Amino acid sequence: MKHKDGSKKPSYNCQVAVDEKEQIIVAADVAIEENDLHQIEPMIENVKETPGCKPTIVPEDAGYFSYDNVEFLLNEQIDAYIPDNFYEVEKRGKTKKFRKSLFTYDEEKDCNYCPAAFEIPFTRIQKRRDDTDLRYYVCNYCSLCVLKNACTESENRTISRDPREYLMENMRAKLNTEEGTEKYQKRMCTVEPVFGQMKQDRGFREFLLRGKRKTKIEFVMMCTVHNVKKIADFIKREGKNLKEILKMITGGGNECGDR
Ligand code: SF4
Repeated sequence: MKHKDGSKKPSYNCQVAVDEKEQIIVAADVAIEENDLHQIEPMIENVKETPGCKPTIVPEDAGYFSYDNVEFLLNEQIDAYIPDNFYEVEKRGKTKKFRKSLFTYDEEKDCNYCPAAFEIPFTRIQKRRDDTDLRYYVCNYCSLCVLKNACTESENRTISRDPREYLMENMRAKLNTEEGTEKYQKRMCTVEPVFGQMKQDRGFREFLLRGKRKTKIEFVMMCTVHNVKKIADFIKREGKNLKEILKMITGGGNECGDR
């Protein structure tokens, strides 16, 4: 897999789903794909199989964004917070030319309106082999426009639109709210620290075993160690004893040997 420093090394892509309150790992897997695009669905199914767990909020980084993933999470009625790949760049205003989000799409007329308020009509369709067709809109007024230098280097500005682009627009609108920003940032105190604790505190930076099945076993063992540590911290912090904890887990009563 390609690493952040540009090097390529034999690697596995570790996935975890984490309980928001106690940072307990409720699902774990090891993938052999270097990107995360196909990891959401199996992880959600994995979480659903964990007793007592119901996924409700999914804040993920941009690597997990795809229309398929957003659609899947909507159908599952899971509150998702996933920025697309250009969200941060556009938000920081780091694009050289007018970013696409400055153009307004009019669904009824099937056209776009540019920052100079000109109507950009639908022009053509681009067929894609394994994806939905892209619609293209080309502006006819650029040669007359005083904003042209800031907008495009081409003769005419072209805007493309995926039929599911509204999913990205809705997601951006959600992320731009105070609540959306707060929920997305939950990653920083849920799933991100778990990997940090495994790597930094426990020195788990390399698998000892090879092969997907064996590395998964090794990873699940490390996740179990993590969970035992979290449970021990919880018991200590709450000042409870083992008997009380067992009662909590089993819902109390004699079935757990309460005498
Ligand atoms: S260059 Fe064309 S698309 Fe861009 S703002 Fe001007 S008229 Fe609109």
